[in-house]
Amino acid sequence: MSSIPGASQEEIRRQNLGAVLRYVHLHGPTSRAALTRHLGLNRSTIGALAADLTASGLVTEEAPTSARRAGRPSLVVSPRSDRVYANALSIEAERLRAARVGLGGRILDLREAPRPRGMSAVDAVGPLADLVRDMERAVAPDTLLVGGAVAVTDTTRDPDGRIQIASVNESLGVALEAEFPGGPGFVSGDLADIAGLAEHVRGVAAGVDDVIYLHGDLGISAGIIVGGRLMMGHHGYSGKVGHMVVNPNGLPCGCGSRGCWETEIGEAALLRHAGREPGDRAAVTDVLRAAADGDPKARQAVDQVADWLGFGVGNLVNVVNPDAVVFGGSLRDIFTAGADTVRRRLDAMPLPISREHLRLQPAALDQNAVLIGAAELAFDKLLADPLNVGVAGQLGSTDSA
Ligand SMILES: [Zn+2]
Repeated sequence: MSSIPGASQEEIRRQNLGAVLRYVHLHGPTSRAALTRHLGLNRSTIGALAADLTASGLVTEEAPTSARRAGRPSLVVSPRSDRVYANALSIEAERLRAARVGLGGRILDLREAPRPRGMSAVDAVGPLADLVRDMERAVAPDTLLVGGAVAVTDTTRDPDGRIQIASVNESLGVALEAEFPGGPGFVSGDLADIAGLAEHVRGVAAGVDDVIYLHGDLGISAGIIVGGRLMMGHHGYSGKVGHMVVNPNGLPCGCGSRGCWETEIGEAALLRHAGREPGDRAAVTDVLRAAADGDPKARQAVDQVADWLGFGVGNLVNVVNPDAVVFGGSLRDIFTAGADTVRRRLDAMPLPISREHLRLQPAALDQNAVLIGAAELAFDKLLADPLNVGVAGQLGSTDSA
């Protein structure tokens, strides 16, 4: 890690502590020798930093189980996933989920409740808080909660089952604060952005700087990462690719427009093409299974949606020129079932300069991407200044009792 001109010794030390903690958080147990190599710091510095992180209860240091070489083995530094954690929440179209995610990105506990039609994001905070409290009862006393984050979908159903586009909800933070007064607090973000971030940090697009992550559920949304940074837009409201108009003579959309991309590739479109009644995720899975089993009508529906999927992806690729397009949520299954059709459409569309290096991939973290991504947001402060958060949070405090 290079030093910044004018930075004090203490600032440099904090930065380096963050770099070591972030490295083992993302890469898992790592020897001091490997940390020295990867972070460009000398051995004695790494030793001192690792000792400080160990003393604060954020990592452990142990001799490797099998020393392959002779001589004194390099101690292995591991994140304390069992002891340091974040609360990751998701408000999805049809369900609410809460997870405790340990440092290192490991899901330690997970609870789920249905989201009834017509339930607003703010109204979901109460039931989510119940899930969190339920998990907290099983938490060992000597632990550190570093923060929380909530991922919110922008597409819901009203009480009559009609699809609704939710707007940015600023009262969500207030409702969370009321449920967890005095806690480390929650940050919130768009579900597709957060799932995309998870795939970028730990999933199929790890190490790739330019990525479009497409998430399908009731609606279609994107997390777009450019130059390694999530594209946010005003108020974090960007990536609403489901509302690109692809078919001006198409069907009315929940947003008030007509022929939006999600009217052609959303879950409702697949069911419609398959001649089924509108339904939930289980109905979508059923069509995909029928297609895999050779049902011609279901197969045709998958191909039709996959063709529209390729069409929209082609347009996005020409705008962003990413190295990878990752398909998550219900689009993961639709892409997997119709990848040849998506590729065929895509081969006919983008500029060659955008197509040559492009990879199309199903999401790796699958359903957990949302929770793992939310935890990444919640861990950010700790990773930026480990000892500050660690000391302030007082490992072993009894405030959950
Ligand atoms: Zn729309």
